[in-house]
Amino acid sequence: MKILLVEDSPTLRYATSTYIRQAGHEPIIATCGEEALQVVDNTPVDMVIMDVEMPGLDGFETTRLIREWLGDHWVPIIFVTGCNDEKSLKEGIEAGGDDYLIKPVSSVILTAKIRAMGRIATMRDQLNEANKELLFLSEKDGLSGLYNRRTFDTKAEEHWKLSTRTQEPLSILLMDIDHFKLYNDTYGHQSGDECIRLISTAIKRCVNRPGDLVGRYGGEEFIALLPNTTEEGALHVAEHIRKTIEALRLKHRGLTQNDRVTISIGASVTNVTTGTSLSHQVAMADQALYKSKHKGRNRVTLATYTPNACVLAVDNDQNSLAALEETLDGHCALVTSQSKEESLLLVSELKPDIILINAHLLDTNGYEICQALKGNDKTNETPVILTSDGEKEELESFSKKFHANAYLQKPFNTHQLLAKIRLYLSK
Ligand code: GH3
Ligand code: MG
Ligand code: MG
Ligand code: MG
Repeated sequence: MKILLVEDSPTLRYATSTYIRQAGHEPIIATCGEEALQVVDNTPVDMVIMDVEMPGLDGFETTRLIREWLGDHWVPIIFVTGCNDEKSLKEGIEAGGDDYLIKPVSSVILTAKIRAMGRIATMRDQLNEANKELLFLSEKDGLSGLYNRRTFDTKAEEHWKLSTRTQEPLSILLMDIDHFKLYNDTYGHQSGDECIRLISTAIKRCVNRPGDLVGRYGGEEFIALLPNTTEEGALHVAEHIRKTIEALRLKHRGLTQNDRVTISIGASVTNVTTGTSLSHQVAMADQALYKSKHKGRNRVTLATYTPNACVLAVDNDQNSLAALEETLDGHCALVTSQSKEESLLLVSELKPDIILINAHLLDTNGYEICQALKGNDKTNETPVILTSDGEKEELESFSKKFHANAYLQKPFNTHQLLAKIRLYLSK
């Protein structure tokens, strides 16, 4: 053991360090409290033998600071002092000391105390190891080594909240081994278990970005959460998993149409405009998985969302409308109008989540529509984005004047457009 000896008297320092060495341990010397703190900061020590009466920081103060510095990591601290009154003993224990020896200390007593404290320190190490093991066991599924469902759910919920805050897309993959009942019936349950293990390892290898989560969701069902991953990424990973499992060439002779083990996958992707909750997203992936099974298994299906947000575009410019339609596809429902009367009616009846108004409509001024909406108690809360292919300065000053929430110049930049829409949908 490395034993830190804090002692200001050179004679006692010499004697005690000799005892420590004789007991088979390595003494590290500090001549005062301040020096002891420096040692603890730089070197891991297994035990501290601490003089109480020292100039500067005394032994009790030094102990308090060491305990604070080490936090949860417990190291035995033994005081050595000339004061043998009860008050000092009480103060020493309260400061965080574990034992209290009265000077002069004999070599026999010191060696016995070191051994006793060392035994407790060993027990602490064993307990820490056991706790680590226990945490691992309680988080992981025994057969596959993947997260169990409970842990996956907890961790996934944290990711979900983070994604909502950072407005990043998040993908879920649900996977189920095809015809697995038949596999068990053909090869026996033990071979079935081995198959689950091999497939788990293969999935884990395909889903390996930092932050990715993989769990065993049920008997032969697996789930993966891919943070900051869009439809394209989710499909890529899912297809990679499917092909990897096919390539394992695990024999499944019970099947007539295919002779190897395959997996079906359902994927769902959430962004601010589509997602409602994690459980909703998992349910979507489950439906997609069901479709994969229904269409013949060994395939990937991406869930398509029913848009839950509605954008009203008041515009007569076909290019802009086409761009809007393409950008919002799969994200929001798009309703269009070209006249003031119709758009005001649509706003009150449809209650869109966002209104985009072209400032330069053919026979109406878009600014007037904005003014009418913002001047009405029933519609003034709905965000309005004014758009124009004219001068930016004019658009900016008129947007302010008519209380529009934002403005966008044409032609639309897809990223800016989506970002603006997401911003208002997440409010
Ligand atoms: P499908 O293609 O429709 O998924 O067909 P399937 O036979 O795989 O149907 P289902 O998913 O309903 O069946 C799951 C089977 O997986 C039931 C059970 O026999 C088997 N199974 C579930 N958990 C375990 C397990 O831990 N070990 C083994 N060996 N088999 C399991
Ligand atoms: Mg002293
Ligand atoms: Mg199943
Ligand atoms: Mg199955």
